[in-house]
Amino acid sequence: MSFAPSAAPLPDVERVLCVFAHPDDIDFGCAGTVARWVDEGIEAGYLLVTRGDAGGFDETPRERMPVIREAEQRAAAAAIGVKQVEFLDGYADGTVTATLGLRRDITAAIRRFRPDRILTASPLRRWDRLAGPSHPDHLAVGEATTCAVYPDSRNPFAFPELLRDHGLQPWRVREIWFSGGPDPDHVVDITDTFDRKLAALRAHVSQVGHLDGFDTMLRDRHGVLARTRGLPDGRLAEAFTIVRTE
Ligand SMILES: [Zn+2]
Repeated sequence: MSFAPSAAPLPDVERVLCVFAHPDDIDFGCAGTVARWVDEGIEAGYLLVTRGDAGGFDETPRERMPVIREAEQRAAAAAIGVKQVEFLDGYADGTVTATLGLRRDITAAIRRFRPDRILTASPLRRWDRLAGPSHPDHLAVGEATTCAVYPDSRNPFAFPELLRDHGLQPWRVREIWFSGGPDPDHVVDITDTFDRKLAALRAHVSQVGHLDGFDTMLRDRHGVLARTRGLPDGRLAEAFTIVRTE
């Protein structure tokens, strides 16, 4: 099972909501692209399902980790130019599944933010590289977000308490961009925003502070992505699959 070929990106997007499992997911996978959207005048918001409480590589007390990682994600968002950053409560890093509760929480966020485009993790697993993109939390958030786009957020009878008790009107998201999935075929040139992506990633000190040669590793990874998808030598890229959901 894989994705169909990507649709052409919508030309008239005003708001994008990025829904991911952990602090740093956006910055590793797609912050160079988000920075380009911000520069184009698109309003971007982040919704993080967990505070990454199972992350880190040192002796930091575990109860400190959610606080540290929330602050790191807010600093990273500032480096990209994203002002709105929200975290869901009640979901622990490493235990996320695509429950009805998660679908309801993401639906509420969609109805509040009213995005034209959603950027989220791929619900499809990559079998060529099990670690990283295909973390079970990523797959679960991608699946729950896709269900929230269709049918939940557009259907007034889905989670009726959202409309009845909170006045959250149905909203139709028109497009989803998936990050981290198999065979992404829509390439975005991030050469000009790469420095901001790097600054955002460096803000995640608890995750990347111990890595030697991090800049070079990242430059290589995004250079290979660009080259293998037809961009000129020396360019850097992120890659996605785009699905229309109108
Ligand atoms: Zn993650």
